[in-house]
Amino acid sequence: MRMFRNIIIFGATGSIGTSVLNVIRRNRSNFNVIGISANTSVEKLAQIAHEFNVQNVGIFDEHTFAGKDSLFKRGTQFFFGENGLCELAKLSEVTAVIMAIVGIAGLRPTMVAIENKKTILLASKEILVTAGKFIIESAKQRNVRILPVDSEHNAIFQCLRGNDGSFVDRLILTASGGPFRNFSHRDMENITVAQALHHPVWNMGKKITIDSATMANKGLEIVEAKWLFNVPSDNIDVVVHPESIVHSMVKFCDGSVIAQMCPPNMEYPIANCLFFPERERLEKPSINFAEQGSLNFFAPDVVKFPHMSIIRQCLKSSNNACAVFQAANEVAVDAFLSHRIKFTQISEVVSKTLDVYTGEPMTNLKSCEESVIKAHGVARGIVQGYN
Ligand code: MG
Repeated sequence: MRMFRNIIIFGATGSIGTSVLNVIRRNRSNFNVIGISANTSVEKLAQIAHEFNVQNVGIFDEHTFAGKDSLFKRGTQFFFGENGLCELAKLSEVTAVIMAIVGIAGLRPTMVAIENKKTILLASKEILVTAGKFIIESAKQRNVRILPVDSEHNAIFQCLRGNDGSFVDRLILTASGGPFRNFSHRDMENITVAQALHHPVWNMGKKITIDSATMANKGLEIVEAKWLFNVPSDNIDVVVHPESIVHSMVKFCDGSVIAQMCPPNMEYPIANCLFFPERERLEKPSINFAEQGSLNFFAPDVVKFPHMSIIRQCLKSSNNACAVFQAANEVAVDAFLSHRIKFTQISEVVSKTLDVYTGEPMTNLKSCEESVIKAHGVARGIVQGYN
């Protein structure tokens, strides 16, 4: 198998999309960008379309597009809304789809891409958390490969290559611990939005930066890992590693642990997926171990960061409780960013939502989407109660 040439980037204007374009920019002869999409950033999309000569453009929120078609080259094909993104995912010349839309707006387009046998380079973690069972089943049935872009899962994917899955004992996800690792419980009460948006190591979008600060992110990643690698969640550990050099590890049954390391920059896992099964030949230096000196590891504080224990409970449910967790967290993060609730109330909203509603029985894709919609409603009600 050769690496992919003809690709679509869903979420091209976001943080991951920008990193994808950086990798492609330095490897122009290897990739054709057939399509790009964004939610509302039409001007930015137009710039990308010109630079990469992209013929197919998807815009989720059609209202933001009105009167802006002159920004694009004549002959550009436009795709609007969820249905439009699904059509984009079907384009026959496309071999791989990069899914980097925040939230679950990418769920249906991902499913359609799988049905049309496109390789999926998956960055949106909400998709597997919400509907992992059905996404993975569909991909398996059609022999479609899902390559994980998320740094931890890409690390595990690399550690597993060439190893028989039956010898895997545990997966060890690393976490930077976020900006509040050393805060006391009392300090946690008064965290401001600006503080939470300032991540010590990673430069990412807003939603994921807050998720990283609450460590909800690591909760979501436990679910992702369970589906991607078919490992029971009780065999998935989390360890805090503030330097973010080791991106995750696999412990095998003979006691050996394999770790993947690279600098904390999303371009590394992205390039790993884009070039799979080959590798990018990068000139720039990677890690200087002598300069790095030490790498540290700590147990996570699950009392200060309750999301991780909450999601482990959700994983035991036969309902779509993980979808509810994800949806409630989305509402809570939004409320925190708009100063309606405190930082410590983010996890409270999630657990209170789950007290009321654990989701529909996990029967099909529709049941996942329904659980998300209902959970949004319940969580919004709980947020209102705080004001
Ligand atoms: Mg991650």
